[in-house]
Amino acid sequence: MKYNIVNRGDETSVRTMERFHELAAECGLKLDPENPDIVVSIGGDGTMLHAFHLYADKLDQTSFVGIHTGHLGFYADWKPMELETLLRHMATESAEPIRTVKYPIIEIQIVAEQGTETYLALNECTLKGVEGTLVAELRINDERFEMFRGDGICISTPTGSTGYNRSLNGAILHPSLEAVQIAEMASLNNRVYRSLGSSIVLPKHHHCDISPKKGQKILLTLDHLNMQLTDLISIRCMVADRKVSFVRYRPFPFWNRVRESFIGDIVE
Ligand code: NAP
Repeated sequence: MKYNIVNRGDETSVRTMERFHELAAECGLKLDPENPDIVVSIGGDGTMLHAFHLYADKLDQTSFVGIHTGHLGFYADWKPMELETLLRHMATESAEPIRTVKYPIIEIQIVAEQGTETYLALNECTLKGVEGTLVAELRINDERFEMFRGDGICISTPTGSTGYNRSLNGAILHPSLEAVQIAEMASLNNRVYRSLGSSIVLPKHHHCDISPKKGQKILLTLDHLNMQLTDLISIRCMVADRKVSFVRYRPFPFWNRVRESFIGDIVE
């Protein structure tokens, strides 16, 4: 079993990483940053986004597991005090196929004047106008859908639906659904301008093209990454063919995470 660690860099995460390396050596696990079977993210959900993008071209051979050194996360569900248990699973399952769950991610094709580039996102992709209102045409499956005017548009995965999407009043989707959600950011809706006003969920094999009005400066984000584009023609978003694998040595139902993260104790 080969592993690598991506850590947030704060004192607790660094200490947890050092302890992990010690225990891993005792268990006979091999540190291999080039071709790890498992990437261990130590920090928070944001750290997992970094880990995902570092290994986005190796999703077929790499699984991820998250240790949270702050609050419980959606991608980080192991505690530092559980390192021994986690390592025991990793060591004893070396010879077996690793037990994982696979979750959908999104593919974003960025069409600009110089050509087309394809990216993956674990949480979401957002488009915003840099100098004010974003004006963009949305086409779904090549049919004109609406002309959007507002702060921006967020295209999220089911696991990303608890992130930015949730702040936009988008629905929380179970990660077993192969879907992408498109949520509006503060759309302009009056007698002249009209967009749907609610988020929509597209199934696999549907695609949405978003074409900003020519000449606009666009801020495009992919998870924690962002880029300013002056020559964007359109983006195409859809459920990616590839999925992300998370190590699942014990059950932790998604809705329990949602309740623990956002609701807490239920008061009668
Ligand atoms: P950040 O601004 O430092 O942190 C954003 C917060 O979102 C952190 O508390 C992070 O959790 C949490 N988070 C990340 N992915 C999540 C998920 N799938 N479900 C629930 N919470 C999640 O930025 P960052 O750490 O680089 O993360 C980038 C992400 O921040 C984006 O992908 C986006 O989802 C989110 N974001 C949200 C808003 C908003 O809600 N208004 C605005 C911008 C970005 P940890 O503390 O565990 O790392």
